[in-house]
Parts: sequence; structure tokens; C-alpha cells
Amino acid sequence: MKLPYAEPYKIKMVESIKRSTPQQRKQWIKEAHYNLFNLSSDKVYIDLLTDSGTGAMSDKQWGALMEGDESYAGSQSFLKLKETVQKITGFKYFLPTHQGRAAENVLFSVLVKEGDIVPGNSHFDTTKGHIEFRKATAVDCTIDEAFDTENMHPFKGNVDLKKLQKVFDENPVEKIPFVIITITNNSSGGQPVSMENVKAVSKICKKYKVPLLFDSARFAENAYFVKMREKGYQKKTIKEIAKKMFSYGDGMTMSSKKDGLVNMGGFIALNDEEIFKKATVFNIMYEGFITYGGMSGRDMAALAVGLDEATEFDYLESRIKQVTYLGNKLIEYNVPVQHPIGGHAIFIDANKFVPTIPRDEYRAQALAIELYIVGGIRGVEIGTVLADRDPFTRKNRYPELELVRLAIPRRTYTHNHMEYIAAVLKNIYDSRAEAKSGYRIIDEAPIMRHFTVKFEKI
Ligand SMILES: *Cc1c(COP(=O)(O)O)cnc(C)c1O
Repeated sequence: MKLPYAEPYKIKMVESIKRSTPQQRKQWIKEAHYNLFNLSSDKVYIDLLTDSGTGAMSDKQWGALMEGDESYAGSQSFLKLKETVQKITGFKYFLPTHQGRAAENVLFSVLVKEGDIVPGNSHFDTTKGHIEFRKATAVDCTIDEAFDTENMHPFKGNVDLKKLQKVFDENPVEKIPFVIITITNNSSGGQPVSMENVKAVSKICKKYKVPLLFDSARFAENAYFVKMREKGYQKKTIKEIAKKMFSYGDGMTMSSKKDGLVNMGGFIALNDEEIFKKATVFNIMYEGFITYGGMSGRDMAALAVGLDEATEFDYLESRIKQVTYLGNKLIEYNVPVQHPIGGHAIFIDANKFVPTIPRDEYRAQALAIELYIVGGIRGVEIGTVLADRDPFTRKNRYPELELVRLAIPRRTYTHNHMEYIAAVLKNIYDSRAEAKSGYRIIDEAPIMRHFTVKFEKI
């Protein structure tokens, strides 16, 4: 018999989570104006709102925390982290920041000017935000396969080289400060980018002498997919694959809250001394002195250990197989999900799940609320609520997909939790015909409404 995978760790400490009844949750979500962001965490049983900063640290990370050096300048924890980042990424220069978007803010302050164009593969919200805030434009060059939830392409995060070439053909090269590849491609569903694709993008960048950057939040998960799916990498270690991928680029921004396995942190790593020098000034202004950049010494110490652990195969295998396990269970129950299953989350297709709820009644939000009431599970809507209104017409924008994302925190929940989540979804799916109406917005902010929007039940 083929042996199933099992976690390469055992549990040393547990954290209680509160159970509650559907009756209680019905009342709580009503009091929260049907916005899951408004729920206090003790009213949630399984929290799948995000995989960012919600993972469990190891005993070695907690041990490193005690050895953190809190010196303002020249912290030993900084030096240890710098050494680890250099070892894993191969980049020469390193600046710590308090989280990923801070790394973007510092680096883009150097590189992005008004009128610039930044091509990439589905830029993450904050990345796009930091580009648009500087009156520049982010151009999404992701391959078309990424937008079809049934398509089984193994590297749906890839950059479409023709779309990228078109950006270079149609714009003066001085207007393109860099190309950015997000690994894995978060916005397209945690889908990986192949080594071959990175190599090809790098070739185009070299031809035009434009730097290639990586938005690297899930670089280790991306390396795992390369090892499992791309020819020629089966025998390579995760660390070898990650380093090779970074070797095609000129720098990176990192949200350490994902593959850094810590609760808070980020960094920039670079090869170019001039850019590094300029970024240093912004880092000191926005983040802190260059040897801590918004992080405590103890957090840098834990991050150095976390980066090392996150790039070990056994950890990644259990991480990604847990996500796949949940995905396959849902497929077995006929629940419509995005294919193939990505690295950090499951995306439920609400257009297929509850087509009976009108789109202008926010069907993905309605499904996310039902998931909370029935099971105490908190996911997040990625659909019309998130897409917000058109800034000019103020009409709702209806994106192609209405999704509910279930992001799985790292090393946090067990197999039984996955079984529970799948069973809750199956029960909701079996009674989906009864779902006829959704919600109406009664109050919303002019921008980024999803965090604070208030609904009422129709
Ligand atoms: C989370 C994330 C960021 C932003 O990082 P924060 O640490 O949340 O500021 C940027 N890019 C990607 C791909 C991310 O997943």
C-alpha cells in the first residue's frame, strides 16, 4: 500500500479555538453587518481569512527569538538574517522592512516615476497600489489560461511573453523601470511560474537592459511546484531551485509573513549597489535604521530560521499536500473549485456554486457568510465586493470570477480541520438550491470598501 504523507513535525504547544453554534453565529454576523472582517477572532472556529502572518513558528524559531539582539545598530540578528538571505537568494545587498508592502514602498520610491509602465503577472494589490500611487501603470501580462478556472495548465502564473514583448514594442524603454514577476502568482490563485518562463522573461529584460524583480512572498512554494512539475528539477533541492530562479533577476521584495514563516516582517534584496544606496535613504526615512528596518531583533532572528525551514522539501510537501488534500476532498464532493489547486489557498467558484443568487446581491459574499454561519469558518470574498465601484461611473464592477478564497495558514490546522471544512461545504452545496437571495450594501467607503462595508440581508 502506498503510504500517505504525514507532517514532518509533532505538536509541542496548542492554542484553544472557540466552538460556537450556528444560532450564535447567525446573531454575531448580523451584528457585524455581514462583513467577516468585523468579526472578533474568538467568534471564528477555523480562520482562513489569510495565510499572511498566521502560520505557526517552530521550537527553533521560538528559541531564536530568545537570542534576538535588540541593538539599534549592528544587531547580530540582522547579520545572521543578512547571511541567510544572501545564502538563499544569492543577492548581494539586503534591507529589512516591517512587511512586504513596506519593501515595495522603499524600492519603488527609487525606481518608479509618474508615467512609468510596470509589466508583470497579475500584480498583487499592494504592489499595484504602490505603482498607481506614483501615477504609473501596472500592466498584467499573465497568460490567458490563468483566467479559466477549469484549465489544468501546470504553470498558470506564467508571464505571456507576447504580451510582455508588446509592452516593450509600444512604449519607450525609459518608461519601463523594471518587470516584476510574482512567485507564486497570488492574484491568479497561488499558481506557480516555471523556471523556463522566468528564464525567457529575463532574456527579454536583458535585451532591453531593464531590471527583473521578483515579488517573492511564496518563492519556496513556487520552487516546490518547479521541482514537482518541471522537467529537469526533480533531483534538485528546493534551495537550489530558489537560488537558480533568483539568479535570473536583479532584485526582490519579500513579505516574510508568507514563506518567511513569521508573523511580521519583510525585506528587499538586490545586486545593484546604486539602487541599494538610494533605497537605503528611503529605508531610513520610512522604516528604520538599515540594521533593523522596522523589525525587532528577535523577529529578524526568527525569520532567519523561518527562511531556512520554509525552503526544506519535507515542510513544503506537507504544506502543499494539505492544501491539495482539502481541494481534492471538495472536488470529490462536486464543490466547484479553481483548478489546478494552488499553493496556499482553495478558491471556490461562486458563479457555479450559487448561480441562483443574483450577481448584484453579491453571491460570493453570500456564500462566505453561509460558510461562517454553518461551520464557523472565515474565508474571504474575491468578487464584486472586492472589485469595488468604477471610480468614474460609481457603478459596481463585475469581475469575471466570483470567488471565495480559503487561505490555509502554515503548520496551523490539522487534517481533521480539513475534513471538517470539506464536510461543511458539502452540506451547503447539497442545499444550494434553497439559496435565492443575497445581500444589499447599506454603507461603504469610497475606496477599498471591502474592509468596512456594511450589508443587510435581502
Ligand atoms: C502579502 C503580499 C504582499 C504584501 O506583503 P505584506 O507583508 O502583506 O505587506 C506583496 N505581494 C504578494 C504576492 C503578497 O502575497
